[in-house]
Amino acid sequence: MTNTVTAFIGLGSNLATPSQQINGARSAIAATAGIQELTFSSLYQSAPMGPKDQPDYVNAVMAIATELTPTALLHCLQGIENEHGRVRTGERWGPRTLDLDLLLYGDQQIHLPDLIVPHIGIADREFVLYPLYEIAPDLHVPGKGRLSDLVANCPLRGLQRLIQS
Ligand code: AMP
Repeated sequence: MTNTVTAFIGLGSNLATPSQQINGARSAIAATAGIQELTFSSLYQSAPMGPKDQPDYVNAVMAIATELTPTALLHCLQGIENEHGRVRTGERWGPRTLDLDLLLYGDQQIHLPDLIVPHIGIADREFVLYPLYEIAPDLHVPGKGRLSDLVANCPLRGLQRLIQS
């Protein structure tokens, strides 16, 4: 690949054996033309945002090198979400088999109707910041500051790193 950009993807699932959903999504992303996997974080368990009457989430963050444009990458992630049986119920923060977010795309700040980068929740979501910090501790988040400072200001809220067998 030529002219690649380093991008970071947040993965989350709380239905249908979440760790399998995450691993399946990882494989699908890595197998996409124009994407090469660089690093994958540990899996983390987090309490749900919003409605509490749903299972805990499993989350991870993946670093990729990509020659896809940000919009093409978003569409590719949405295609993988759909292939993994995600049904959009319209319930905000409701349960989902697979949620893929484009967290960062190089050092770009993007404000399109359907794509905001850095991802809008990046600075205050423990299940994004801690896995991101695990794989890229020196990162600077455009418009938000040093990742280490964002982590220092973000409570764990019960986030746990899962020991993988
Ligand atoms: P969600 O239900 O959390 O998966 O949100 C999906 C919606 O967020 C879609 O309509 C996307 O177009 C929009 N969106 C905006 N910015 C992003 C981003 N950085 N990554 C993923 N989805 C995004």
